[in-house]
Amino acid sequence: MNILTFDELVEECKKQEKNIYELIQEIEAADADISVEEVRANVKLHIETMKSTIETGMKSSEKAISQWCGDDCEKLQKRYANNKALLGILFEKIITYSLATIEENLRMGKVVACPTAGSCGIVPSVIIAVAEEQNFDEDTQIDALITAGAIGAIISNKVQLAGAVAGCQAECGVAAAMCAGALTQMLGGNITQILNAVALAMKNLLGLTCDPVCGLVEVPCIKRNPILAIHAVTSSELALAGIESKIPLDEVIDAVRQTGQLMSPMLKESSLAGLATTKTALKLKEKIFG
Ligand code: SF4
Repeated sequence: MNILTFDELVEECKKQEKNIYELIQEIEAADADISVEEVRANVKLHIETMKSTIETGMKSSEKAISQWCGDDCEKLQKRYANNKALLGILFEKIITYSLATIEENLRMGKVVACPTAGSCGIVPSVIIAVAEEQNFDEDTQIDALITAGAIGAIISNKVQLAGAVAGCQAECGVAAAMCAGALTQMLGGNITQILNAVALAMKNLLGLTCDPVCGLVEVPCIKRNPILAIHAVTSSELALAGIESKIPLDEVIDAVRQTGQLMSPMLKESSLAGLATTKTALKLKEKIFG
C-alpha cells in the first residue's frame, strides 16, 4: 500500500470520492492482482475465524501451562448467567467475546492477530458483538475490518507493532485504535470521525508498557483486551458526537513512535521491570520455572 500517512489517506479518499474501505480494497486488489470481490472474500474468512474463535473460547476453561489463566471467560459467563451487566448486553458481549478470543490465544488456538496475537481479542469482540446487537450484515463487518486493517497498516509505517520495540501501546494500543476506527465506520461515521476515534483511542494509551509476568503473554495481556475493547468503544462514541482530538492523528502516531523510543528497554517485553518484577511476579516465576 503506497499510502504512508493518514493525511495522505484523507487526501486520496477525497480525490477519489471514496471512503476508507472502498479505497483500500481497490489498492489491495491491485497490489495482489486479484479482484475486489476476492479481497472481500479473504476478509470474510477472517471474520468467520473470529466468530469460531469466540465460540470455541466461550466453551473452554482449559488453563494455560502456567495454570493461572484460562478460565476468566467462564467466570464472566457465570456472572452474567445471574446478573445483568451494568452497561447492558452489548457491554457484556464485548468483554466476554474479548476474553474468549484472547484465552484461545493462550491455549495456542486459532486466532486472527489484529494486529498481534497478544491483542487479538480487541477488534473481533467489538465488530462481532456490535454486528449481532445492531443486526449489521456481513458486508458491514467486512467494511469495518478493512478499515481496521488500513489503520493498522498506516500506523505500522511509523511504529513497529511489537511490544519489544514500542511497548504495549504498539500492540493493545494499536488494536484499540484500529477497533475505534472500525466501529466508527460500522456506525456510519465519516472519515473525520473515524480518524478522530483512532486518535482519541491511541493518544490515551501513550506509554503503555509491555511488562509480561514471567515473559508469558498472560499477565497483564489477557485482561488488557476486554478493558481496551471498551476503551475503543468510548473513543468511537466521542468521535461520533463530533468531539475531536486536538492533536491530529499523524502527530499522535509520531508521539507513539517517540514515546516507544524513549521507553526503557526494561519495559519493552524484557520482563525486567514493572509488573514483571513485582514480589508476586517473581514468586510465580520461581514456581513455574524454578
Ligand atoms: S503486555 Fe506486551 S506481551 Fe502483553 S499484549 Fe501487551 S505488548 Fe503483547
